[in-house]
Amino acid sequence: MPIAPELRDVALATKGFMPPDEGDALHAAALIAGDAVPGAPWVEVGSYCGRSTIWLGDAARSAGTALFAVDHHRGSEENQAGWEHHDAAVVDERTGKMDTLPFFRRAIHDAGLEGHVVGVVGESPTVARHWATPVAFLFIDGGHGAEPARLDYEGWAPHVAVGGTMAIHDVFPDPADGGRPPYEEIYLPAIESGRFELASVSGSLRVLTRIS
Ligand code: SAH
Ligand code: MG
Repeated sequence: MPIAPELRDVALATKGFMPPDEGDALHAAALIAGDAVPGAPWVEVGSYCGRSTIWLGDAARSAGTALFAVDHHRGSEENQAGWEHHDAAVVDERTGKMDTLPFFRRAIHDAGLEGHVVGVVGESPTVARHWATPVAFLFIDGGHGAEPARLDYEGWAPHVAVGGTMAIHDVFPDPADGGRPPYEEIYLPAIESGRFELASVSGSLRVLTRIS
C-alpha cells in the first residue's frame, strides 16, 4: 500500500531533496524488499532533515521492521555555505556548523514514526565497519563526492542480504544532469560486480536487487 496522503504531506513539508514521485518509488521498492527478506532491518545512509526517511519509515512500519537512519547531520560538501544545496536555517549558530539532527527528530516525531526509525548519528564508514546484521533494504543518499560515495558502496553493499535491495539516489549517467559519483562509484561498480541487477528506475533513483 502506498504512503497515506496526510503522511506524504508531512514528508513534503520537511526540508530535503527527495522528489515526491521518487519518494513513492522508494516506498514501493522498500516494501518489495521487506517481503523478499522479512524481518531484516533496513538502512538509510543520508537522512538530512528526514524527508526520505518518512517514506521509508512508513514502509518499515508496514513491513514490521525498523529503519536505521545513518547521518552525521553535519551536511555533505554540497550542503555547506557557498554551495548549491545550502540552507542557512540548518546552521547551529553556536558552532557555525550545520546540524540537521533537531530537524530530523522533529520530522520523525511529527510523522509518528519514532517506533520504527532509529537515528544513528555518525560517520557512515564508521557505522558500516561495525555493522554486522544482514540488511533487507539499503538506501544510499549520503555524500555525493567521489570518496564518500565509494566508501558508502564499499562499506554498505556487502551488508545487503541476497534477495535484498540497494537503492541509490542521484544517479546521473549523463553529466549534464548532475554529479557523477553516485553513478560511477556506486551504481556501475554494483552492476559490474555481478552481485546486483537493476530492478527499476525512477528519475535519478536506481533500485538494484542483490542476486549473489
Ligand atoms: N535523503 C535526504 C537527503 C540527504 S542529503 C532527503 O531525502 O532529503 C545527504 C546527507 O548525507 C546529509 O544530511 C549529510 O549530512 C549526510 N552525509 C554525507 N556524508 C556523510 C557521511 N560520511 N556520514 C554520514 N552522513 C553523511
Ligand atoms: Mg538525494
